[in-house]
Amino acid sequence: LKKKVLSVDDYLSGIQKGDINILSQAITLVESARVDHQAMAQDVINRCLPNTGKSVRIGITGVPGAGKSTFIEAFGKFLTNEGHKIAVLAIDPSSERSKGSILGDKTRMEELACDPRAYIRPSPSAGSLGGVARKTREAMLLCEAAGFDIILIETVGVGQSETAVHSMVDFFLLVQIAGAGDELQGIKRGIMEMADSIIINKADGNNITRAELAKVQLQNALHLFPPHESGVEPKVMTCSAYEKTGIKEIWENILQYCSATQQNKYFDTRRSEQAKYWMYETIDEQLRNRFYQSQKEQIKQAEEKVLSNEESSFAAAFRLLDNYFKNDTKELK
Ligand code: GDP
Repeated sequence: LKKKVLSVDDYLSGIQKGDINILSQAITLVESARVDHQAMAQDVINRCLPNTGKSVRIGITGVPGAGKSTFIEAFGKFLTNEGHKIAVLAIDPSSERSKGSILGDKTRMEELACDPRAYIRPSPSAGSLGGVARKTREAMLLCEAAGFDIILIETVGVGQSETAVHSMVDFFLLVQIAGAGDELQGIKRGIMEMADSIIINKADGNNITRAELAKVQLQNALHLFPPHESGVEPKVMTCSAYEKTGIKEIWENILQYCSATQQNKYFDTRRSEQAKYWMYETIDEQLRNRFYQSQKEQIKQAEEKVLSNEESSFAAAFRLLDNYFKNDTKELK
């Protein structure tokens, strides 16, 4: 069966109706590298914009094995049972190499994947972290326009992707496990500082005591950090994604956080800062891409000159940039 080519209006009305098929196709459009797809995607996003922003955006991180996907399944089921519609997205800059280490394998969230009130979308697999993150943010906006009122964005707790997720969510949750030292869990201090709350998962069986102990230790460690800019002190909680304990408390904590930050205005400030951040991120990404793509030949020639000592690295760089921007402005006139 040949797929119907959708117009911007088709995308728009499908998304507004909450049609998951059309939403998926719109996200594929956002992820496409084709220039015409990109232009259309931007059109769709722009027209969806008035219907965005009404969800609670939650980032979830933690090292592989901490139990993120098991937790998301339990947490997600809890939320859909409460009547929410949830979308689960991911940022995994390593997924191209590892063939999708997070969310790629949907069997990890089997129950949630079958839930009609849940939508799971794996991480875009190609491109730089900045590009992947931007696409995820745009996918999030489309999900909001499609009526999802809670967005969960998963990432692996090992690197730069935390900053990217942190810059698109209202609440950033760090999943830890007891028994492993901080080094073992590979969690950097910076990630701890970003967290709006920390949960210690796998608090079940004979692990409960250790989890409770780790909770006290972590809570004490957090006291040594500078006050959170949200004005709300991060809480440490235990849970078991297996036994589905502690899940409700985590949601209540997030709701309390939202209401406190809405009151002190941090909630809106953070979102405005994020909107600004993504404008600059996109400018950076596009400047780089356009420059390298359009100046391939010139860059190659300059590289040869630099290697043969005919021109200094700096002179070559400035010449290339001057040339690019001169041509660019000429085109504009
Ligand atoms: P991720 O890599 O962070 O997404 O972790 P997974 O969700 O794939 O879980 C890693 C392992 O921990 C799996 O074998 C899970 O079955 C196990 N696990 C996850 N949550 C719990 C829990 O609450 N209790 C126990 N005992 N094991 C868990």
